[in-house]
Amino acid sequence: MAEQLDFGALGFKYRKTNVIVSSYFKDGQWSAPVASADFNFDFSAFAGVFHYANSCFEGLKAFRGVDGKIRLFRPDENAKRLQRSGSHLDMAVPSEEMFIEMCLRCVKENIEFLPPYGYNASMYLRPVLIGCNPQLGIASSTEVLFAVMCAPVGSYSGAASLSPGTAVIARNYDRAAPNGTGAFKLSANYATSLHPYNMAHRQGYRELLFLDPATKTYIDEFGSSNFLAIKGNSYVTPLSDSVLPSITNKSLQAVAEDFGLKVEKRRVPVEELAEFEEVNACGTAVVITPICSVDDKQKLEDTVVTKTYKIGSPDKCGAVSEKLYKRLRGIQDGLEEDTHNWCLYLD
Ligand SMILES: *Cc1c(COP(=O)(O)O)cnc(C)c1O
Repeated sequence: MAEQLDFGALGFKYRKTNVIVSSYFKDGQWSAPVASADFNFDFSAFAGVFHYANSCFEGLKAFRGVDGKIRLFRPDENAKRLQRSGSHLDMAVPSEEMFIEMCLRCVKENIEFLPPYGYNASMYLRPVLIGCNPQLGIASSTEVLFAVMCAPVGSYSGAASLSPGTAVIARNYDRAAPNGTGAFKLSANYATSLHPYNMAHRQGYRELLFLDPATKTYIDEFGSSNFLAIKGNSYVTPLSDSVLPSITNKSLQAVAEDFGLKVEKRRVPVEELAEFEEVNACGTAVVITPICSVDDKQKLEDTVVTKTYKIGSPDKCGAVSEKLYKRLRGIQDGLEEDTHNWCLYLD
């Protein structure tokens, strides 16, 4: 139960909370959302989600601020992205209002699991949209479950926040295809990257960096987070059809502009890694993970040649990145003014 939670040592893992909030789409309409303490769903083994990955999801956070207020960070953006993902699967999608309502209700009904201010912890919300009607033929789902669940989370990997990690380039694998589903938050994309991710982790790397699948020349993104680099007075992030539009990246770009940095959204050649002063992975789970070294292992005839790009200090986050991080976290925690109106307050 919540009383026994050590908010300082949460990590990023499953925990039973009070309820999941869900709604079911059938015959052209969504049912009234219900909160249930039973975390087991009841639907057919023939549901599309089990066979054809008729499934997409979201990730967003609620924070307890220094002022005691509870803030959801940009839930409207997550609502719109889920709509794009679900629509790409040709499934019914919840309205933005319904998405936000259900997220708010999930926070309220699980309120004792929301970490207090001061632990660098938050409540992670996981909305999922999955196809449930029984089917055998390949088809989009006509019955869809939309569920919002949550878990209190601390730092993702257990590592101290902003501690740099290493990455390796995925030379022999892609997470998305050219003209594929990389720009949508589909569960299928994760299935694709699990195996190469496991390999990278076994080799001791924290992150796996994917390249543009068509030419393997330009940087795309990490497996579950975007790529951002600092070069002089510029914030550089890849422009690519196969990159997932990260809300964290979008927010950090706005913060960077507030600080007077120039934001460059463009193709980023792999070799440019040698020119960056700071590189980070960014996403909701950790905001940013500094990357201090990237290995590129290329097979030349029968030998593997490793080229290592060293970026910044292996011990600490780059100064510009840390400044961006602090502003964003400050807005989420109520320490800094929310000039962009990103936070939705739970009353
Ligand atoms: C979810 C996700 C991200 C991060 O997006 P945020 O909105 O910042 O959490 C980045 N890349 C991929 C592939 C993702 O699935």
